[in-house]
This record gives sequence, C-alpha cells and structure tokens, in this order.
Amino acid sequence: KENLLQPEAAVDEGKQEESIRPQRFADYIGQKDLKDVLDIAIKAAKSRGEVLDHLLLYGPPGLGKTTMAMILASEMGVNCKITSAPALERPRDIVGLLVNLKPGDVLFIDEIHRLSRMSEEILYPAMEDYRLDITIGKGSSTKTRSLPLSKFTLVGATTRAGALSSPLRDRFGLIQKLRFYEVDELSKIVLRSAQLLQTNITEDGAAEVARRSRGTPRIANRLLKRVRDYAEVKSFKEVNEQVAAEALQLFQVDPCGLDWTDRRMLSVIIEQFNGGPVGLETIAAATGEDTQTIEEVYEPYLMQIGYLSRTTRGRVATPTAYKHLGFKPPNEQLS
Ligand code: ATP
Repeated sequence: KENLLQPEAAVDEGKQEESIRPQRFADYIGQKDLKDVLDIAIKAAKSRGEVLDHLLLYGPPGLGKTTMAMILASEMGVNCKITSAPALERPRDIVGLLVNLKPGDVLFIDEIHRLSRMSEEILYPAMEDYRLDITIGKGSSTKTRSLPLSKFTLVGATTRAGALSSPLRDRFGLIQKLRFYEVDELSKIVLRSAQLLQTNITEDGAAEVARRSRGTPRIANRLLKRVRDYAEVKSFKEVNEQVAAEALQLFQVDPCGLDWTDRRMLSVIIEQFNGGPVGLETIAAATGEDTQTIEEVYEPYLMQIGYLSRTTRGRVATPTAYKHLGFKPPNEQLS
C-alpha cells in the first residue's frame, strides 16, 4: 500500500520531483544555518578561484540534500554528477566517475555510509590530493601507479553521520546537519510548488498541507499533488484549508502527519508501559520496524513535535502525545 508519509522517494518519484526542485540558492527555503555556511564557502572559493571544500550533509531523508548539491554546482557554474553508494559496489564504478570529472565538478554520493571498503579507499587520495592510486598486477610484481584527477568537490549525503568511518569523515572540510522544516517554511515550499504545478491554493490551504508533512519537503510536495487531484476531481476552484483537510483525511493522513508506525509506537508506550520509559528494542518489536529506522526516521520527528522524549532509561510519551491519541495524560488521571 502506498505510504504518503514515507520520507524516502517512491519508485518513479525522482523524475516528477525535478520539475519543482529549486534550482538556485534563493529558491531554497529554510535551512538558514546551512545556507549561511555555504554562502560564505561559495563566495570564498569563487574569489580565490578554488574548488569548494568537500561537504558532508546529514539528516533524515527528503530534507533537501540532493537539491543542495545541485544548487551548489549551479552556483559554482559546474556540473553535478549524482550517484549513490549502492551503485558503486565495484571499484571500477567509482574510478569511472572520478576520471571523468571536469575541474570544479560536484560529485554527489547519496547514502555514503554504505560505500564498500574498496571504494572508500579509492576515495581517500582522490579527496585529499585529487589523485587516483591504482595497483597493477598481482603477487610480487604488484606496482602502484598514481593518476592525477581534476580538482572536484565531493558532496556526501547520509542519514547517519555516525555510521561513516572516521578516515572518511575526517576528509570532509564541511560537515552540516539538515533540520526538519518549520510549518511556515513548509507552507512557503507548498505555495512555490503549487505555482509551478499551476494549482490555485490559499495560504491556509498551504499551511494545512504543511502541518501534515512531517517537517519534510518531499512529503509536502507529495501531499500537495494528492490535494490537487482531489480539488480537480471535485471541481473546487481553489484549495483552501477545508479542501486540503478533507482531501488529506480521505487519504488517511493524520492532522500532524503521524503514520501507523508513529501511532503504534506511542500507543504501545502509553497503553502497555504506562507512558514509558521503554527501550528501543521493545518499540522496534512492537512496530515491526528495525531499530535503525525507528531511531533515524520516526523518533526525530516525534521528538521535534514534542510527542516523545528520550531519557537514559528509554523513550517516554509526553502529555501532548496522550492528548493527540485520545488518552488522558497521567497527571490529569490523578486529579
Ligand atoms: P534523499 O536523501 O532521500 O534523496 P534528499 O534530502 O536528498 O533526500 P531532495 O531530493 O533534495 O531530498 O528533496 C526532495 C524534494 O523536496 C525535492 O524535489 C525538492 O523539490 C524539495 N525540497 C527539498 N528541500 C527544499 C527546499 N529547501 N526548498 C524547496 N524545496 C525543497
């Protein structure tokens, strides 16, 4: 079943995303800290006529890592090659990419924490000295040859900065975290996308979509498309708050963007463990998700909206979470 609230791109969604993906720095909404840092880096690199430092972007999926890499390339006036670690299984895959880079190019590697050991070792001298070290022959007649590469910028993306080996992490000059977006930022993204999709949406309508988007632009754009379909079929002239709410209710998108797993996590904590603390393993078992997905995809959003807190003894559901799920918070039960 299609999960509208999944932050990863669905199959085929990538191509559709291109038409609304911001192309310039000025169209990239939110992420102020990240933009401030990169703005300086771009200006400094341009004025010295150098390439940008290697950049590691980390944070949950769908927050705009690929988009930022493409914008960096276009601001620097260079090409952006996009790939992802699972496509670089064999050393020759990464060698092929590296030797074809032109001076200044941006090489974007998604899920960089999944690079194979061999590919990673090819990257070290490439990142450090723009050099490719290749070994020729086998056994006692092995020789190492060095090939110069064009100076390039590696942009690595990962959901888990902690999963990178430290030699790889140390070779990035800039390491930046992407945050979940605030509702007002997501509203702006929805308004901008609506304009590109020629959909008539009010500010309230955009805010309603934004509130249900889990702080994630990819989800906001996806929900906007569903709302647009609904309005078209029902012949509404514009998408206002009510139309957006009706449409998203029809698609079973919760008013705060919670999905089945979020709700299940919270209700297990509340109903079976009296609000917590509950260990990660227990939550994973109750939801059928692996601990990593719980930690990287579900928990960050629930903590961002103040429904869950993490303590040294485990996860705790907050009074707001009780209310949202229709339970009485523990302190109110006493009185
Ligand atoms: P993944 O790692 O899962 O591919 P990502 O972090 O690379 O995710 P993107 O592909 O860059 O995510 O972004 C998803 C979509 O969200 C893009 O198509 C783009 O239209 C939109 N988007 C992302 N960030 C922004 C932003 N700051 N302003 C406007 N739109 C954005």
